[in-house]
Amino acid sequence: MEHFLGGVHQFRTQVFDQEKDFFQELVHGQNPSALVVSCSDSRVDLNLILQAAPGDLFSLRNAGNLVPPFGASNGGETASIEYAVVALDVKDIVVCGHSQCGAMKALLDPASAAKLPTVQNWLQHAETTRRIISENYQHLDGVALLEATIQEHVLVQIENLQTHPSVAAKMQRGELRLHAWVYQLETGSLLAFSSETETFEPLGTEGKAIGDRPRRSPGTVRKKNPSTKRPRS
Ligand SMILES: [Zn+2]
Repeated sequence: MEHFLGGVHQFRTQVFDQEKDFFQELVHGQNPSALVVSCSDSRVDLNLILQAAPGDLFSLRNAGNLVPPFGASNGGETASIEYAVVALDVKDIVVCGHSQCGAMKALLDPASAAKLPTVQNWLQHAETTRRIISENYQHLDGVALLEATIQEHVLVQIENLQTHPSVAAKMQRGELRLHAWVYQLETGSLLAFSSETETFEPLGTEGKAIGDRPRRSPGTVRKKNPSTKRPRS
């Protein structure tokens, strides 16, 4: 822990003290523009990746960047989503998966989580992802299968978000946009799902959010057969 204690000292003396006005402003309240749902994985730091400052992002992190459908979990996910959308009035929600995700690997290989009963239990919330993959991606294996799983999983969480009343109501008014992203550990790049091409593309080339799409009827999944939206390998 020693190096962390040194970090605390460095933060106080070199960061906090030099940006005192900024940090004092934060004392009076937060006004983040986005809720970011990402994995607990220590290698994924959206504040760093987006070069965001304290107060910019409201964060929800858990194993596998999961958003259980409304009513499916008593965990803090629903409360965090509701607070961000209603109390903080965020305009965007990002669900960000990442390459090499251990939770997605465990989803594909449940035996690897044999000694982790609570993790197995938690991953039941990813059953939709598992089913989509097992029924539509038999032609893939290895890295390509994992990539497809990570990408489909993010899209499923976008669907799940819309089962939350606070999200659905605000989207109906056109006041909330949803974004499906995948962070690539290998290159440091972010891929974003494009509603026009229905593929994941490097972020920055096309800024359309999923929330910009015409609203789907409740209960419908993506328009195209997922197998036509083959991930890049
Ligand atoms: Zn992960």
